[in-house]
Amino acid sequence: MTDRFRAGAGRLCLDFIRTLRYRGTPAETEELPDEPAWGAWIDQFGPFAAPVLPSPSSSRDARGVREAVHELLTGSLRPSSRQRLNRFAALPVPAPSLSASGELRWQAADPASAMLASVARDALELATSPEFARVRRCAGSRCGALFLDTSRPGTRRWCSMEVCGNQAKKSTYRAKVSAS
Ligand SMILES: [Zn+2]
Repeated sequence: MTDRFRAGAGRLCLDFIRTLRYRGTPAETEELPDEPAWGAWIDQFGPFAAPVLPSPSSSRDARGVREAVHELLTGSLRPSSRQRLNRFAALPVPAPSLSASGELRWQAADPASAMLASVARDALELATSPEFARVRRCAGSRCGALFLDTSRPGTRRWCSMEVCGNQAKKSTYRAKVSAS
């Protein structure tokens, strides 16, 4: 089974803001339009064993937190968004719990808000850490995703070599062929 949402940006908060896909382009796509979609995101990225069924208000909160995270990471944070991030970062995050059979389980009284707390905390930590200098915008022509460059020389250009990197190589090849 392939995952529904794109992963691999290097941080939870960076994967999360990609759920407004192709942001700022004519192809912009809302991947979290409703509570089933938000639940599916939690199932893919969260630590919980059972599927999560968030409320409609939680789905609205998710989009609000996502836009606040995007403002924070792109240097356009409004005071109301800063307060929103602080509010969600203060909520309980998933807690580890050992089962009788010795398995680690992650629990939260409200899994959806615990997930937003995790995202908000991750974003605040990232934006104020030295790693923030390694956050880059994908060079893919239509992509625009932000990712954390963990390569040693710090010269990674694409959110994913498999998708955006290969597309760039192909179009360079096509340009060479048509020029010759
Ligand atoms: Zn990309």
